[in-house]
Amino acid sequence: MTEMSPEFLSELADANARFETAAPSKILEWAAERFGDDIAFACSFQDIVLLDLAMGVMPGLEIIFLDTKAHFPETWEYLETTKARYPGLNLTITEPDEGAVACGQDGCCAQRKVAPLRKAVSGKAAWITSLKRVDAPTRQAAPIVSWDEAFGLVKINPLATWTDDDVAYYEQSHGLPIHPLIPQGYLSIGCAPTTKPVAPGEDPRSGRWAGTDKVECGLHEA
Ligand code: SF4
Repeated sequence: MTEMSPEFLSELADANARFETAAPSKILEWAAERFGDDIAFACSFQDIVLLDLAMGVMPGLEIIFLDTKAHFPETWEYLETTKARYPGLNLTITEPDEGAVACGQDGCCAQRKVAPLRKAVSGKAAWITSLKRVDAPTRQAAPIVSWDEAFGLVKINPLATWTDDDVAYYEQSHGLPIHPLIPQGYLSIGCAPTTKPVAPGEDPRSGRWAGTDKVECGLHEA
């Protein structure tokens, strides 16, 4: 775990302010220089925009995929497409502990996502995520660089200021493969039991845990 001295927190705050208008690749370059190999990227494989950007800066970056045992077959298909596109991808696939509660029940995300991620990033200095401020009201004020109290390491969100259109433009202009469920109206993709497609114009995230109060799985609540 990285020490959390006032100087260190001040360094993170400075970087966060500086990167408000920076391109994601510049943020990744800083992360690589500052933390070296001591970083992991938790990728949901809803899209691979940040993965593509990161491969240009840190080709050996560890990519973590949280296997909740409840993903759509199409997500696995997309992961295989990604592996073929980036040979030698440094991929770690986590698993929930045996005895995790059934999918969708209280505590499911904590056991199938949060606990495995905690284990996977233990000892790392920083983690990278694809979080965007436009994803949900709970993310509107998300910093680009911060100390993540919940996981005990630095959290870096290089795409925080991007919109969904920015993501789509990058995908098109770089010829990236698209998750097979996107054209079917699944605009925010999590686990199969708790993800539904949304109608055109609807909040993309309204298909997640639809009909419940839940809006976050616990990975981004710090
Ligand atoms: S998203 Fe749904 S199925 Fe997946 S871990 Fe969370 S509650 Fe369980």
